[in-house]
Amino acid sequence: MIFDRVLLKFFITGIINTIAGLTIMFLLYNVAGFGYWFSSAANETLAGIIGFLINKHWTFKVKRWSLFIIAGYFTMIAISYFISYKLALTALSAILVNKSNVIRDNAALFTGLLLFSMINYFGQRFIVFRKRDEQIIFAPILNHRERENGFLVYPVYSRRSGGLSVGINLFLDKKNCPFNCPYCEVFPFSSNAEFSLEQMESDLRSAVERARKKNEPVKDICFSGNGEPTLSPAFGDALKLAGTVREQIATSAELVVITNGAGLLQPQVFSLLAQVAVSPSLNIWLKLDAGTLGWYQKMNRSSIPFEKLIAKIKEFATCAPFTIQTMLCAIDGERPPDDEARAWETLVCELAEIAASGKGGIRKVQIYGKARSAPEDPKASALPETYLEERASSLRRAFAEKDIKTPVEVYL
Ligand code: SF4
Repeated sequence: MIFDRVLLKFFITGIINTIAGLTIMFLLYNVAGFGYWFSSAANETLAGIIGFLINKHWTFKVKRWSLFIIAGYFTMIAISYFISYKLALTALSAILVNKSNVIRDNAALFTGLLLFSMINYFGQRFIVFRKRDEQIIFAPILNHRERENGFLVYPVYSRRSGGLSVGINLFLDKKNCPFNCPYCEVFPFSSNAEFSLEQMESDLRSAVERARKKNEPVKDICFSGNGEPTLSPAFGDALKLAGTVREQIATSAELVVITNGAGLLQPQVFSLLAQVAVSPSLNIWLKLDAGTLGWYQKMNRSSIPFEKLIAKIKEFATCAPFTIQTMLCAIDGERPPDDEARAWETLVCELAEIAASGKGGIRKVQIYGKARSAPEDPKASALPETYLEERASSLRRAFAEKDIKTPVEVYL
């Protein structure tokens, strides 16, 4: 979208740096006695620096320092400057042929300024800062790395979504999670990038629009990213905004929150999730990797007490529907022990029964295997497909005995 708040901010920035540069330029030429080229160059240099800083931090909210943005911004200014002022001087020299050099130069300076503003605006808006949108790529399933590159929105093909999933990453600067799963695929990184709702809306709309142009149906808009999304202070507002964007331009997409359940320990997050979970267009995918303390300590390595977390998940099951997601992988080459497999199955059945008797309901159980690389490889490794299918079949039988209709699906 061309006419948006970013454009307005760009123009306000342009006014600020134009006033600053203009003042310097005419003072240098008319008062300090400097020549045409020095005065105009001083104007554009000063205006360029002011404009870059305001545009970077305010208009486009780009916190990281990228060589492309810095070089691109000033290269665009240089190109715009030489084209504009050369054109202006040539044109005004021909038009004001009988006027004094002072009149001709002042007129050329003013005309050059107008031309420069126009050319530079289009260049910055549609080339230099547009570059960020263009970098939102449609990543293959094996590449979720864009979220570590400071990307707030990262479309990926997701096996569990069954197509294109537009991910939202609330942690752009570093991983933020109270779990430490050995299979976690977030590689160590740090950056100065900061989350902003404005950037999120802009990137989300851009990703959905680009998907539409490619005739790619967006299966879901998914809160995931570099950690536990519900622990971000921006989570509530971001969820509401994503819901609005979904209603406007992606009505067939589901809104998904992938969570490890840590947020449920915070009353405000618990009530927010319970409130939004009843919406048919929103689905919470809640992690449940273990049925025993021992396996929880291997799979999730969290300081959150296992019993406390499970008690909260049970409480949540009484009041809100959700999907259970379970990673099955080997740790240090060993598959989950048999007592763990039995305990997990019992726990899932218990949750399904609690949910069915309350206002909740388990929508689905997703069993998925390790398919992507992780920084701790080979500590966690993929298990054979047959093992995952056996666990799923066992759970389906247990559900059938209890007349639980929840589907159980395996994703490899
Ligand atoms: S809960 Fe998710 S983000 Fe956190 S460590 Fe585990 S896999 Fe990584």
